[in-house]
Amino acid sequence: MNKIKLPYTVVKFGGTSVGSADRIAALKDIIAPFTKKSKLLVVCSAVSGITDLLIKAGESAAAQDELYVNSFLTIKEKHFDITKSLFKGTQRKEIDSELDEMFTELDRLLMGVYYTGELSNRSKDHAVSFGERLSCSIINAYFLQHKIKSQYVDARNIIETNDEHGCAIVDQETTYTRIRKYFKDYSNVSVVTGFIASTKNKITTTLGRGGSDYTASILGAALKANEIQIWTDVDGVMTADPRKVKDAIPIRTLTYNEALEMSYFGAKIIYPPTIQPAFDAGIPLRIKNTLSPTDEGTYISSKQDANHHLIRGISSVDKVSLITLEGSGMMGVAGVAARVFSSLAYNKINVILITQGSSEHNITFAVRPEDESRALHAVAHEFKNEIKNGTIEEPVSKANLAILAVIGENMRNTTGVSGKLFQSLGKNGISVIATAQGSSEMNISLVINHDQLSKALNTVHQAFFLSDHKTVHLYLAGVGLIGSKLIEQIKANQQFLKDHHHIQLRIAGLADSKLMLQGNLTSSASKAKDLLKERGEKLNLKKFIEEMDERGLANSIFVDCTANVAVASLYQTILEKSVSIVTPNKIANCNNYEAYSLLKQTAREKNVQFKYETNVGAGLPVINTLQSLMISGDEIIRIEAVLSGTLSYIFNNFNSSVSFSEVVAEAQRLGYTEPDPRDDLSGQDFARKILILARETGSKMELMDVKIKSFLPAECWKPKSVPEFFKILKQFDPEFKKLALNAERQNKVLRVIGSYGAGIGEIKLSAVDASHPFYQLQGSDNIISFTTQRYLERPLVVKGPGAGAEVTAAGVFADIINVSNYLV
Ligand code: ASP
Ligand code: MG
Repeated sequence: MNKIKLPYTVVKFGGTSVGSADRIAALKDIIAPFTKKSKLLVVCSAVSGITDLLIKAGESAAAQDELYVNSFLTIKEKHFDITKSLFKGTQRKEIDSELDEMFTELDRLLMGVYYTGELSNRSKDHAVSFGERLSCSIINAYFLQHKIKSQYVDARNIIETNDEHGCAIVDQETTYTRIRKYFKDYSNVSVVTGFIASTKNKITTTLGRGGSDYTASILGAALKANEIQIWTDVDGVMTADPRKVKDAIPIRTLTYNEALEMSYFGAKIIYPPTIQPAFDAGIPLRIKNTLSPTDEGTYISSKQDANHHLIRGISSVDKVSLITLEGSGMMGVAGVAARVFSSLAYNKINVILITQGSSEHNITFAVRPEDESRALHAVAHEFKNEIKNGTIEEPVSKANLAILAVIGENMRNTTGVSGKLFQSLGKNGISVIATAQGSSEMNISLVINHDQLSKALNTVHQAFFLSDHKTVHLYLAGVGLIGSKLIEQIKANQQFLKDHHHIQLRIAGLADSKLMLQGNLTSSASKAKDLLKERGEKLNLKKFIEEMDERGLANSIFVDCTANVAVASLYQTILEKSVSIVTPNKIANCNNYEAYSLLKQTAREKNVQFKYETNVGAGLPVINTLQSLMISGDEIIRIEAVLSGTLSYIFNNFNSSVSFSEVVAEAQRLGYTEPDPRDDLSGQDFARKILILARETGSKMELMDVKIKSFLPAECWKPKSVPEFFKILKQFDPEFKKLALNAERQNKVLRVIGSYGAGIGEIKLSAVDASHPFYQLQGSDNIISFTTQRYLERPLVVKGPGAGAEVTAAGVFADIINVSNYLV
C-alpha cells in the first residue's frame, strides 16, 4: 500500500498549557486530531514558572546564597508532583530516573556556580535549558504511555545559533537543512524542546525569553508546514489589553505585519521574532487557547481580510518617558537626528517612538523609563558644544507617560481614522502629548499620560470596535425617590435606546447613603438596588470615585441624585478626572461663585459635560432653553418665574374667601410642602433657582445677592414647633385677607414671583393682572418667562409640573441622553 504523503504541522504549547498534570493530560486530546492527518511536531515550553526559578537558583548560587538549594528543590518537587499523578509502576520509575539524571546534572552545574560565585550568560543558558528538557521528557513519556508514537527531540541537536547567550541568533541555513534532514523519514509525533539551541561547538544557547514560539516558527518554516499553531491560555490576539479593556474581543484574522505591530506592544501573546520565519515561508500562524480548544483563535497570514472595522487592534506600552531636544541650532541643519539616534544606539538605548515637527525646531522621542536618565546624558553629551554656546537647549524629559497605538492595514488609504481617534479621546477628556504615524499607515501611535491609559484604551476601543452602538457607563449616587425612578426608566427604555439611538446604557456603579457597589449592574437594572444591599460595601465616596477612575471606562457619567453636600463637593474632582456629571442636586451650582465657575471651567477644559437641567423646574426645559437662547446670540432682558411648587399651589388657591393658614395646612396635607412649611415659605430654595438662572446668563451673583422679600410676618419664625407656627400664622389670616382683597379690587391675583434682570435678583409677593402670563397659573405648576431681545413683546414662556420624582427623573434621564449623544 502506498503511503499518502502527510504534511507537517507544528503545534506549540506554552508554560501554562503544560503547567500541571491535568493540563499535560489534556494535550493528548488536543493533538489527537492531528496525528492522523499530519506529521506532528509538538514544541513545548518549560512548566510555567520554571524558567524564572532556574534563573533565580542560578543567581542565588552566584551570590553564594545557600538558599539557592530551595529553588532547586522547588523545581524538583514540581516535576515529580507531575510525574506522580501522570504515571504508575515501571513507567513512573523510568521517567523519574530520566528526570533524576537531569537533576544531578543541574545540581552539579549550580554547585559549580555556587563555588565560583559566577554565573556567566553561558551557564545561565545551560541552567534554563533544563526547563524545556524536563517538560518535554515528561510529555513525550506521557504520549508513549498513551500509545501515541512519539519521540523526544532536543532542539540543541538541530537549531544552531551564534554564541550571543540569552538571545542568540539562529543560523538559518544550517538549521533549516538540519531540520529537514532530521524529520525527513519520521512520520509520527515529535516532542521538541522550545527555546533552546546550541552553537556550532555544541554549547547550549537560548532564543530569548518567550523563545519557544520562535522555535515553532523555525520548525514550521523549514518543513513548509501547513500551519503553525501557538497554544496559550488566552483566546488569541485581543483587540486591546483585556486587563484594561473588559470589552476586548479576540481578533479573528491578522496579517503578518499587523501581528508584528500588535505583538511588540501590550499583552505579549506571541514572541515578536516568531512572525518573521513564518512570514518568509508563507506559513499561516494560528493562536489557540488550550482552555477552550474549539474556539477559532487568531489566524495570521498574508491575507488581508475584508473587515468592517477601520482598525484591527489597539496596542499599548504601559510606561514610557519622552525626551525632547530643542533649539534654533537644529533648524535646517543636516545630521542632527543622526547624531541624536547614534548617541542613543551607542549607549544601547532602544527608542520606542520618534516625532519631529516640520519646523525642525525639536526632536522628541520615547524611551523606557529605566533608560530615561541614560538617554538624557547621552544626548546632552553628544550636543555638549551646542548646549554650551546656547544654540541647543539642555534636553528635557517627561516621565509617567504611556503609548497607545491603533493598528491595521485597512487604515491605509482610508480617511477618517485619525479624526475618529482624536475626537473620541477629546470627548473623553484625554489629552494627547505627542503623536507618530509611520508612512506605512498601519500604526498611529499616541503618547498620553500614564494615568489616562486605561480610559484612553477603553475610549478608542469603544469608538472603533463597538461603533454600531455606544456604551455609556453610569455611576449613580442616590437611590431614593429620584434615583429609583431613574433606574426604572433606564430599564424601561434600554432596548428602545439601543435599537433606535444606538446607545447602550450600563449602570457601572451605585451608591446610597450607606453602601456602594461597582460592576456591570445593568443586566438586572431593576434589581440593582437589591444588589447594592446584598453585595455593597461600606460607602466611601472618595474610594468610589477612585475606583471609577481606575476602571477608566469610556463614556462615563456620574449621576448625582442626592441632595447631599458631600457628594456635591466631589464634582470638581470628578470633572478633573474627565467624567461628565448629570444632577438635580443644586448645591454645587449655589456654592460661592469662584467654586461654581471653576466647575464650569474644568468641564470646558476637560471637554466633558456638566448638566443640571433638573436644578430648576424639574424636567421642564428651563436651563436648556436659556442656554439655547444665549448660544444663538439672543440677549436676556428679564427672567420671571414661579419656581416653587408649594408657593405656586398656595397662591393659586388662596383668595379673599379662604383663610391663608387653611390653604397652607391643606398644601401640607397634600404633601406639597417640606415637613415644616416655612422651609418653602421662606423662599430660600426658590432663591437658589433664581441664582442658578442668573448665573446662567453670565451674572457673577452670590446667593445672598438674591433679595428675598419675605411675606411671612417676623413672628412666624419664632416658634420651634410646626403646630405652634400654624397657631401664629392663623393670627395673621386677616392681614393676608386684606392683601387678597386689595388685589381682587384691581382684578389682580397674588403670586410669589422670582425675577432676575438688570443685575438684580429678587423674590417677592406681587399682584398680577390678566395680561400677565402668571395670572392663569394653576395647581402646583411652575412657570418661567424669558423676556429677551427676540421675545420682547410677548415673552417666551415655559410652564408645567415642576416637581415630583417622576418628572425629575425623566429630566435627569434626558440629560443623560444628551450627554450620551455628545459622546463617542
Ligand atoms: N521557557 C521560556 C521562557 O519562559 C521560553 C518560553 O516559554 O517560550 O521564557
Ligand atoms: Mg511564552
